[in-house]
Amino acid sequence: QMTDISTKEGPSSPSYDWFQTDSLVTIVIYTKQKDIHLDSIIIDHQNDSFRAETIIKDYSYLIHIGLSHEVQEDFSVRVVENVGKIEIVLKKTENISWKCLGCPLEKHNSLIPKKDTGLYYRKCQLISKEDVTHDTKLFCLMLPPSTHLQVPIGQHVYLKLTITGTEIVKPYTPVFDSLLSEFKEPVLPNNKYIYFLIKIYPAGLFTPELDHLQIGDFVPVSNPEGNFKISKLQEVEDLFLLAAGTGFTPMVKILKYALINVPSLRKVKLMFFNKTEDDIIWRSQLEKLAFEDKRFDVEYVLSAPTSEWKGKQGHISPALLSEFLNRSSEKSKVLLCICGPTPLTEQGIKLLHDLNFSKDEIHSFTA
Ligand code: FAD
Ligand code: NAD
Repeated sequence: QMTDISTKEGPSSPSYDWFQTDSLVTIVIYTKQKDIHLDSIIIDHQNDSFRAETIIKDYSYLIHIGLSHEVQEDFSVRVVENVGKIEIVLKKTENISWKCLGCPLEKHNSLIPKKDTGLYYRKCQLISKEDVTHDTKLFCLMLPPSTHLQVPIGQHVYLKLTITGTEIVKPYTPVFDSLLSEFKEPVLPNNKYIYFLIKIYPAGLFTPELDHLQIGDFVPVSNPEGNFKISKLQEVEDLFLLAAGTGFTPMVKILKYALINVPSLRKVKLMFFNKTEDDIIWRSQLEKLAFEDKRFDVEYVLSAPTSEWKGKQGHISPALLSEFLNRSSEKSKVLLCICGPTPLTEQGIKLLHDLNFSKDEIHSFTA
């Protein structure tokens, strides 16, 4: 349902305005909120249709306009964080004066609860695909120049493929291209590439098709979703990450962000559950990171190890967790993140409650 912005439900009603010079058109969005960043706004324009979705708390404010004149494909975005103002600067194709910005399209100037907004997809190009383990690959997709989208830490997007005539969508969690400091991307990337670690299941519905894409092919990618908030990491001293298989993916950005941007952080421990040694994603990077940064430790737990394996084995259990989850001090601020197959996540949450960790100290990644 659409909420008329004049009813003032939710955050105080945002508004927008525009102005122009000979060569530029600037659209200004006044969110009237302070907590607005470059990842709060998603912009797409195709032909003459311009779409800007601003995430304001649990709401989405949409600007959706058929522009009255042509603009160039690329544009710039600026956020004035302390006043919650967003400026989008479009480049005119022709230096002529516009009489109006354009005509309103569907849901223009509306504020809708985020859960009621449909997902918007844009086509991204497959740039590269690299083997990471025997069944998991690092995919790099490129956003079109006409899109501004940054996936917030801890959130996922949906990829869409048409398989035997039916549109199928599945969620995937963007990662960085590497865990290490010589990596090419800044922690809050302002660029066009989105990386994914994706396990290919030979008998699966979606991933074999994804694996068959050729470099240069296009895949529709949705707006981000998910309820992890970066504010959860504020003042955290001990960060415990429990990941199983590709449940490692949300941990990648959280780990990197915490090590770089959380000054209170004393300890990050990753317990990484896998079937065998061959299934461990980015093992050498994890070990290098643990060597380089004394605050970070990784421990592997294998459910189907070979007889040579000297490390921990079995499934998630009270014994494993109670030994692993030692706080750096009695009253230290803790965050626990858990992600993996649903049974593991559910058992994990229960065990963590049994160990007296509170709801606020636990974040689970689920569907
Ligand atoms: P599916 O067809 O779903 O099959 C998965 C496995 O189950 C296969 O081994 C298949 O053989 C088996 N199977 C299927 N049907 C049956 C059946 N009836 N009985 C027994 N076995 C069966 N995955 C990633 O790799 N990377 C990510 O970053 C990532 N992020 C995610 C984020 C979220 C929020 C969620 C919910 C999931 C995420 N996933 C991620 C998982 C991803 O969405 C898919 O579930 C996964 O890729 C499997 O898709 P598929 O269609 O290929 O396999
Ligand atoms: P996997 O089958 O290789 O299992 C990894 C480990 O999980 C195992 O070694 C075992 O320790 C544990 N495990 C598996 N099944 C279990 C069970 N039934 N009970 C207890 N423990 C169990 O894992 P995978 O194939 O890499 O799958 C990863 C899962 O993580 C998928 O289900 C995927 O949907 C999920 N995932 C979720 C998100 C999210 O944000 N919600 C993100 C990424 C992945």
